[in-house]
Amino acid sequence: MNNYKSDFPLFSNVDIVYLDNAATAQRPKAVLDAERDFYLYHNANPLRGIYSLSVEATEALENGRRDVKRFINALSSDEIIFTRNTTESLNLIAYSYGLTHVNEGDEVLVSITEHHSDLLPWQMVCREKKAVLKFIDCEQDGTIDLDKVESLITDKTKIVAIAQVSNILGRVNPIKEIAALAHKKGAVIVVDGAQSTPHIPVNVQDMDADFFAFSGHKLYGPMGIGVLYGKRELLDDMPPFLSGGEMIETVSRTSAVYAELPHKFEAGTVNAAGAAGLGAAIKYVESVGFDAIHKLELEASSYAFERMQKMPHVHIIGSDKAEEHNGIITFTIDDVHPHDVSEIFASDNIAIRAGHHCAQPLLEHLGYRATVRASFAFYNTVDDAKKFIESLETIRERMGYGK
Ligand code: PMP
Repeated sequence: MNNYKSDFPLFSNVDIVYLDNAATAQRPKAVLDAERDFYLYHNANPLRGIYSLSVEATEALENGRRDVKRFINALSSDEIIFTRNTTESLNLIAYSYGLTHVNEGDEVLVSITEHHSDLLPWQMVCREKKAVLKFIDCEQDGTIDLDKVESLITDKTKIVAIAQVSNILGRVNPIKEIAALAHKKGAVIVVDGAQSTPHIPVNVQDMDADFFAFSGHKLYGPMGIGVLYGKRELLDDMPPFLSGGEMIETVSRTSAVYAELPHKFEAGTVNAAGAAGLGAAIKYVESVGFDAIHKLELEASSYAFERMQKMPHVHIIGSDKAEEHNGIITFTIDDVHPHDVSEIFASDNIAIRAGHHCAQPLLEHLGYRATVRASFAFYNTVDDAKKFIESLETIRERMGYGK
């Protein structure tokens, strides 16, 4: 185990080569401790009571919010809304902003590289509002042509939705440039940060994102806590997504005055323990640092990548440079179905993912049905990569083909 793997208790408990980090990461002890500490010493319903335990619970929640604000460089903690995950954050934008700002005949522009979570909400908005859903098609290597983007954004475009890093290609999209093109035409940009936050430093002000969504569980934090960042002037103007307790100032028989940000969008009892865990995850990631994260991920993933490039029956999707994949290697093997590939890896105690990875339109666009994905985190070692390659080298033979 390298130093970092030993920070993650699961690896002491379970013997596995874990290469499914793009689906969910493992959690370091610091995160498990923070959640447990909340329930052991500070558990009460946050924001409600004035007794000290409830105040402590509120502090745990708001400290987590401040950690998120710092991590993505938001202007204010009020712009950080806690949700359950990226999917809920994107749905919040679609239902609250999308349904109120998109009208009949308007256009919503979505990248073909999107996860279904950043596509279906926009399909819903366009269906409901009789608007037109348009696509930015990527090139075969996964790059996005900014000239094409510019020609696709029209005066009718209200929303441009794109991931900073695709969960299949791993490539970083030119968000800042796309945001500038969207803003020139008066559209807002929604950025899916589910796969970027674990790998690269994020600065929402610098990229000029109007909305930015991510999940705690891919960032070494707990499941069940996610984030929606939005610019204050946009969030202030939006109606609540869910309504009920915690999100009001006053309520009469027939009406209500909603609470200020961020609570207007946090109806019901919030996941304060999750916020504490996410805060701990962010501090842990900051203590490792993105330079080290990048170096370690590249060291292990490029070992695998370069060997895979030499295998005539293995085809990697996207860029031919390991450093442009952020540890995500999606591939096919001639003649062997991805589900068979994943079963063989599983029998060798290696966790990878097979299927469409919730991005069917992208795979169809690139000419694939199903693929295999190995996704590395900074705790993965070159030894993990070696075991992965050793197993991969045997797969065609084990399925009855030549090497
Ligand atoms: N967007 C991207 C790019 C993703 O990779 C994922 C998770 N695979 C999601 C959205 C959805 O994340 P969650 O399931 O945490 O809502």
